[in-house]
Amino acid sequence: MLIGEAQLQQRVQELGRQIARDYADHEPVVVGVLRGVVVFLADLLRAMPELRCEVDFLAISSYGSGAGVVRIEKDLERSIEGRHVLLVEDIVDTGLTLRFILRNLETRRPASLAVCTLLDKPAHRLVTLPLRYIGFSIGDVFVVGYGLDLDQRYRNLRDIWVIDPPD
Ligand code: 5GP
Repeated sequence: MLIGEAQLQQRVQELGRQIARDYADHEPVVVGVLRGVVVFLADLLRAMPELRCEVDFLAISSYGSGAGVVRIEKDLERSIEGRHVLLVEDIVDTGLTLRFILRNLETRRPASLAVCTLLDKPAHRLVTLPLRYIGFSIGDVFVVGYGLDLDQRYRNLRDIWVIDPPD
């Protein structure tokens, strides 16, 4: 086990408080990137009940392994033009997926665009990205649980676990 439930919950509460403070006057659109983010996002939203915000989702699929070739499978329901957008991710590894998403969202002219990721895995980062909120920085390991999967399994584990990486 890498990060236990209590530690996760405590950090998510801190992030929620910080985000609610920072965005108090901005009525942000909180955008979750499906599917890995659902557990984290559900907890994060409940950690900032005082914040007036909208919630929307993007679903993406990646091709090849880590090539950063990404397609939007499900787009946002509403326009983000002129809105303050907080993109919420489960994990950032090379950063290529996130770069694709950020570039796409930037073309829609939001008033601001910032990123909150539960996990940051800087070992293989290929592109520099602004990560405003980071839950935990982790080493070069493959993790599952708390929304994160291996072949769609393990998302429902309450803790984050290291698992032998897929070949
Ligand atoms: P990136 O484009 O930053 O290299 O990869 C981002 C995506 O790779 C994440 O959204 C996630 O789907 C997957 N990923 C990278 N590292 C891990 C990991 O340790 N565990 C799991 N479950 N997925 C990972």
